[in-house]
Amino acid sequence: MPAPPLRTLTTSSSPPAVRPRPGFPARLEPSASGPRTSPPALTRGQPAAPLARPSTPSGVGMDSQAVRAAMVRKIEAQGVSHAGVLAALRAVERHRFVDTALANQAYEDTSLPIGLGQTISKPGVVGRMIELLCQGRHDKLGRVLEIGTGCGYQAAVLSHVAREVYSIERLKGLHEKARENLRPFRLSNLHLLFGDGMLGYARGAPYAGIIAAAGGNDIPAAWIDQLAVGGRLVAPAVTSVGRQNLVVVEKTATGVVRTELEAVLFVPLKSGIA
Ligand code: SAH
Repeated sequence: MPAPPLRTLTTSSSPPAVRPRPGFPARLEPSASGPRTSPPALTRGQPAAPLARPSTPSGVGMDSQAVRAAMVRKIEAQGVSHAGVLAALRAVERHRFVDTALANQAYEDTSLPIGLGQTISKPGVVGRMIELLCQGRHDKLGRVLEIGTGCGYQAAVLSHVAREVYSIERLKGLHEKARENLRPFRLSNLHLLFGDGMLGYARGAPYAGIIAAAGGNDIPAAWIDQLAVGGRLVAPAVTSVGRQNLVVVEKTATGVVRTELEAVLFVPLKSGIA
C-alpha cells in the first residue's frame, strides 16, 4: 500500500484540520517514498541517509560525506562547537536542497538561490543560529518552530537536534519544493506547514525553541507568546541601530531577556501567504 505524503497543515485563511499535538516519543510517520515500514527515528549523529536515494548530482559524487566534513570543520573554525549541531550539519546532505546546477557549490559557506527570490541560508549561519538555540543544552530540544522553511535544509538540520520540528513557509511553491526535497530523508519528526509564520503556530506551542530564517522590523509578539518558559528564540530583526542583527530572546518565569548579537543579512519576513 503506498504511504501518504508528508503531512501538511495549512495555517492560512481556512482553519487547519484539527490535529492533536503529538505525544512523546514522537509518533513515526510514513513517507511517500517507500513502503509502509517502520523507519527508525533519526538520532543525533546518525547519517540522514535516505532509504531510496535519489541520484546524486554530478560534481558532488560519492564523497559528499568528506566534502561535508570539510565544510563542518570550517564552521567549527568560525566558533561553532556544540557537538549535536556539528553532527547534524555533518549528516544532512545540503546538495540535495539546491538545483543540480548549483550542487557543486552546496558545501561552500554561501547562500544560494532556491527560487521565488529566496535563498538557502549559509551553512555557517545555520550552525551559529542552531547553536544559539541549543545553548546550555546537551540533550535534544523538545518541540521547535522554524519560520521560513525555504528549501527545507535548516528544517532537516533541526530535526536532528530536536524531538519535534514544525516548519512554516508562506510561499506555496517553496513549501512544496521543501516537501519534495525532504521526502527521501524520511524525517518522521518534521512537520511542514503552509501559512504565515508571523502568527507562529499556536497548536504546537509552547516551544522549547523558535528560529526564524527571515528578518522583520521586530520580533512578532505571537512568537514570544508561543515560547515556553525556559525556551529560546533566535531570529534576525532590525535593531536600535537600524540594521539587521541576530536577536536572542530567552523567556524566563519573570519576563523576557533580549540580546542583540552580530549583524546578519536575511531575506525579509513578510506577512500573508502567496
Ligand atoms: N531555512 C531556509 C531559509 C529560507 S529563506 C533554508 O534552509 O533554505 C527564508 C524563507 O522565509 C523564505 O522562503 C521566505 O519565503 C520565508 N518567509 C518570509 N516571511 C515568512 C513568513 N511570514 N512566514 C513563513 N515564511 C516566511
